[in-house]
Amino acid sequence: MNPPISDTGEITPSPEKRKGFSSSEADSLPFSLVCQECDAGTEIASREQANAAGWADIIFAPDLPMANWLGVCPSCQKVAAE
Ligand SMILES: [Zn+2]
Repeated sequence: MNPPISDTGEITPSPEKRKGFSSSEADSLPFSLVCQECDAGTEIASREQANAAGWADIIFAPDLPMANWLGVCPSCQKVAAE
């Protein structure tokens, strides 16, 4: 029996690279956002709205109980800067 290696000796890479999360998984979840520092975020309905409102460090966080995305709201950015 031959091992699953091509003639060139390269091992075929797995078609699904595990890289944290897939973008399709992020797209399949409804957008909900919560601030890392406070309770803000419930008024944000989309990623675009979050960007427009000045949120920063928005990351996909599917394991959070209260939201699927985590960021820093404009108010908390102001506090951190002072
Ligand atoms: Zn905040």
